[in-house]
Amino acid sequence: MGLEILDAQSDAIALIMLGAYMPECDGFEFLARKRQDPRFDGVPVIMMTASSGVENFRVMNDRYGTAQCDRFLRSVADTLTEKLPGFVFGGRIGADVFAFLIEHRDDDWTNALSSGSESPHYGRFVVKFGIYADVDHTLAAAAICDRATLALGKIKKKFGTNIAWYDDEMRDLQLREHQIEQMMESALAQRQFVVYYQPKHNLHTDATGGAEALVRWISPDMGFVSPGQFIPLFERNGFITNLDFYIWEEVCRELRRCIDAHLPVLPISVNVSRMDFEVSDLAERIAAMVDKYGLDHSLLHIELTESMYTDNPQQIEHTLAALHQNGFFIELDDFGAGYSSLTSLSTLTLDVMKLDMSLIRHAARTNDYSILRFATLLADGMRLKTVVEGVETEDQVAALKVLGCDYIQGYFFSKPLPAEEYEAYLTTHCAQEVKA
Ligand code: C2E
Ligand code: CA
Ligand code: CA
Repeated sequence: MGLEILDAQSDAIALIMLGAYMPECDGFEFLARKRQDPRFDGVPVIMMTASSGVENFRVMNDRYGTAQCDRFLRSVADTLTEKLPGFVFGGRIGADVFAFLIEHRDDDWTNALSSGSESPHYGRFVVKFGIYADVDHTLAAAAICDRATLALGKIKKKFGTNIAWYDDEMRDLQLREHQIEQMMESALAQRQFVVYYQPKHNLHTDATGGAEALVRWISPDMGFVSPGQFIPLFERNGFITNLDFYIWEEVCRELRRCIDAHLPVLPISVNVSRMDFEVSDLAERIAAMVDKYGLDHSLLHIELTESMYTDNPQQIEHTLAALHQNGFFIELDDFGAGYSSLTSLSTLTLDVMKLDMSLIRHAARTNDYSILRFATLLADGMRLKTVVEGVETEDQVAALKVLGCDYIQGYFFSKPLPAEEYEAYLTTHCAQEVKA
């Protein structure tokens, strides 16, 4: 649409303010198409993006063309070569990434690196340094660069922090991740991943209304490993999809067990990662799995986070619509945790909005519930049920009741429980609802 307007009124347009990340035609593609028409050359563009602008070389290439960017890179290389203290040699190892070998002269050469100022400004550009000092000389050059790159990765998205040192903590983390990757497949085969269930409390009926399945890794070698330590890694290396399918099946098994044992049967929600949407027949596979256990589809709820939506909107919309049509409930997880776009709320087929823990934290700390009130109104207007996560005190429960929230999940009612304890919890806490 923007291109059409530009085409019709190129003389009248003084400035384009362009979003970088949009569904269908993103800002980069818009720029590429705009550049094809010389009539638009005189129209300046301001590009807006939520991602911290300093790691965005692609924007530069699109904006200025590769020839000019190559000249720019050469001038960066010249400046660095000239200014770096103890420069031995160096070169470009990636798009806008350079590697330099520097002689380690004294302990405090950070100042020299940053030209005496707090952040290393070289002309109009900012350089971020990942530094690996105390080099292990037995390592191959590539491994040495990897360590410096690892340090750099830590600050790539941190505005204002421009120097990072590779340290033992980073190395420990790297070793730990390596260890986890070595063990993950056998751990899955040996059923070391266990599902815990955290009850959700229905504020209207004052009874348990369901639960969320949360994975725990009980490892003979490493002990109890929390999801924070392995989920992000599995999301990076793709193993999350194997784990998630396993967890979903475990949940189906548990639901079947509850039915057969005449225990109360309430819906259980499972987490779905962005990687899972790469499975093209995801909706069909989930449906087939649930059918295998003879379960009603409404017993399985699907939790996904909003930030996923930026990756592959059409695929996600399509899969969610298919799941929804098949009777599965869709819950939008972590609403209000940083990134929020109202577009996804209106385009995705959703049933439930889960309000992120940070919202109740903030409200309790400041005694200001206005954001939670707004989120509840928004959900209400969109006919979505609300679940507030991370509720820990009675005061918070009372306040949320007044706001008209539907469900509460948090330590106030229960921590995530192993299956047997969850079943015991169900028997004591939802007797009324089951009778009703
Ligand atoms: P999440 O989906 O937002 O899950 C809620 C997290 O908050 C859980 O952490 C839960 O134990 C914790 N929590 C619940 N109530 C309270 C409370 O009152 N206070 C506090 N401080 N924390 C509370 P957990 O189990 O460590 O899981 C962390 C994240 O790992 C989850 O966040 C989810 O994103 C991911 N995750 C967990 N299990 C799975 C899984 O099976 N598959 C996938 N893909 N991700 C999972
Ligand atoms: Ca969740
Ligand atoms: Ca959540």
